[in-house]
This record gives sequence, C-alpha cells and structure tokens, in this order.
Amino acid sequence: MLTRLIYASEPSQPLTPAAVQDIVDHARAANARSQITGMLIFDSGAFLQVLEGRREPVSETFGRIAQDKRHRHVVLLSVQTVDERLFGRWAMGFAAADASGRDQFLRFGGSDRFEPYTLSPGSAVGLLLALSGG
Ligand code: FAD
Repeated sequence: MLTRLIYASEPSQPLTPAAVQDIVDHARAANARSQITGMLIFDSGAFLQVLEGRREPVSETFGRIAQDKRHRHVVLLSVQTVDERLFGRWAMGFAAADASGRDQFLRFGGSDRFEPYTLSPGSAVGLLLALSGG
C-alpha cells in the first residue's frame, strides 16, 4: 500500500536557479534513501510537488518540507492511498512551469498560467504527469 501526497506552495523569496537546483539535488538523494519518488514543478511564483512511497516516509518527508523556510503557504491538495506509483521513474523529477506548459495549464487548470493552488486533485496529477512527459 502506497501513499500519494500532492501539495502547492510559494517561494518565500525569489529563488535563484542554483537554489532550486540545490533543493532538487537534496530531494533526489534523500528520497532515494527513503524509496520516495515524485515530481516537482516550479515557476518563479509557485511550487507543485507530488511524493509517492510508503506512508511513514512520505509523512515524515512532508513534515520536513512543510517546515522549510524557503517556501510558505504550503497547502495540501491531495493525500490518497494508491496501489501503484505514477511517478516511479524519478526520485524527484523536475520541470520548470514556463510558457511551454501553457496548453497543459489551460487543459488542467483552465488558465494559461501555472496556478497550482486552484487545481483539483485529479487535475494536479494530470498536470504533473503531463509536464513530466509521462
Ligand atoms: P536541515 O538540513 O537541518 O535544514 C533545516 C532548515 O534549514 C530547512 O528546513 C530549511 O528551512 C533550511 N535550509 C536547509 N538547506 C538550506 C539551503 N541550502 N538554503 C537555505 N535554507 C536551507 N526534502 C526531501 O527530503 N525530499 C523532497 O522531496 C523535498 N522537496 C522539497 C521541495 C521544496 C519546494 C522545498 C523548499 C524543500 C524540499 N525538500 C525536500 C527539503 C526539505 O524541506 C528539507 O530542507 C530537507 O529535507 C532537510 O531537512 P532537515 O530537517 O534535515 O533540515
């Protein structure tokens, strides 16, 4: 039995590409140790992340993420029990939510901008999958 958790947040202050890469590198190493997989999408204004794995490590990891001062307004969009991973290829995949994703933002969010706080759980999964190329 696996848990899939999705949340949205916004950076507390502007993040340099190097700072975002640092977050992704750390997440990849830590998640691999905990058998957590997932995907992180970022634009200058918001994060959208999915974590998949056993319930305890997902919960523990999200607890650390939620306390991280590099972002704020951490809002859970969905927590569900699932049989299979949808994002099993990546300890933490990463995609920039830039203008190339406009069609996907429209398709899943009804807006041509990346606005993760307004996504339904199903739309959040759809957008994460679409931007992951999966
Ligand atoms: P410590 O390393 O002891 O750090 C304590 C606090 O210091 C952190 O909460 C943070 O506020 C701050 N901090 C840590 N490193 C830096 C830095 N380089 N620059 C500035 N401040 C810093 N971790 C995962 O394990 N898996 C994930 O999938 C994951 N995804 C993340 C997604 C986002 C959007 C963000 C912002 C962070 C993510 N993290 C992830 C990192 C996570 O929030 C913790 O920082 C990390 O797990 C280390 O936790 P710790 O308690 O050991 O903190």
